[in-house]
Amino acid sequence: MSYKLSKQDVCCLFEKLSEKYDIYAPKRVKNAGRFSETDIVQYDRISDLSEIVWDEKSTYPMKEVLSPIQQTLFYFTEDEYRASKGKTRPMLIFARPCDINAMKIQARIYAGNGGFVDMYYQRMHDLAKYILMPCNGGDDTCFCVSMGTNTTDLYSMAVKPVDDGMLVEVTDEDLAPYFEKAEAAEFAPEFVQENELKAVIPEIPDKEVLNALKKHPMWKQFNGRCISCGACTIACSTCTCFTTRDVIYGDNPEVGERRRVSASCQIDTFAKVAGGGDYRTTAGDRMRYKMLHKFHDYKARFGESHMCVGCGRCTGRCPEFISITVTLRKMYDAVEEIKKELGR
Ligand code: SF4
Ligand code: SF4
Repeated sequence: MSYKLSKQDVCCLFEKLSEKYDIYAPKRVKNAGRFSETDIVQYDRISDLSEIVWDEKSTYPMKEVLSPIQQTLFYFTEDEYRASKGKTRPMLIFARPCDINAMKIQARIYAGNGGFVDMYYQRMHDLAKYILMPCNGGDDTCFCVSMGTNTTDLYSMAVKPVDDGMLVEVTDEDLAPYFEKAEAAEFAPEFVQENELKAVIPEIPDKEVLNALKKHPMWKQFNGRCISCGACTIACSTCTCFTTRDVIYGDNPEVGERRRVSASCQIDTFAKVAGGGDYRTTAGDRMRYKMLHKFHDYKARFGESHMCVGCGRCTGRCPEFISITVTLRKMYDAVEEIKKELGR
């Protein structure tokens, strides 16, 4: 069912929803940008609808609500430990289609991977409902249409602010009681049909082409350009890698908490293992690993979409101006060259 709400109705609705739900949305953080006097837009809990940034892509992804950059896994004393309790209040999260589609990928990795369920992710996932917010096509780094992530039906409510209030579609029975007295209206969310930027996705037909691509000289050009800072993966809507870190309380090293902290495959020690082995020693090796993970390996393992949702945040955050779509074009050209050489 769809409804038209006046400005006052919208305020009342938000107040009523806030009694039961914690509400998250993209919010402006003043002067927190990379350059002086610049802002970022980041997901956070809101207490008023006016805090929502409607017309700008968030600098960092929605995934930070469900899988924060750091979170406590458990607390320990000398011979005991207790798992962290986590959140208990349900959440409503304002999000665009790319971020909602990214949650499907995150859920697949955290909770649908070989039968193992990550309880820390799952308990957050189970508390979340999504409010689809309109997208105006994003900025010049977005390519959701190329990745097929420009639409979604995974939402409990879709909204569109209009001059005198808000249009709302409600698809979730749990939310229907909030709209019993609302005025019915014609409204269905519209999805972006074209981005300014289009990406070409390479088709890797077999292992022979894949192995030749791994050895292709294209990856070497990143050795002199990528500084292995990891900013691209921290801003990525779908990356899930993490490491753990113990925080010790006071002088006793046996009392503290273990946290998990986001990790990046682009950092130079990421693939270092016990005994001194290191499987990706150059920035080019690591770029190859990331690109193949996003545009081949995930799909080869799970058989659905690629792991990239085309949000373009990695391009936006890279201090070396390395664009994911330009890299993808280079990968596409390399694959075509290899296919030609191998007579495919
Ligand atoms: S790889 Fe880049 S474009 Fe793709 S989901 Fe991650 S941040 Fe977005
Ligand atoms: S943000 Fe750019 S420079 Fe930093 S690791 Fe990623 S690709 Fe390399």
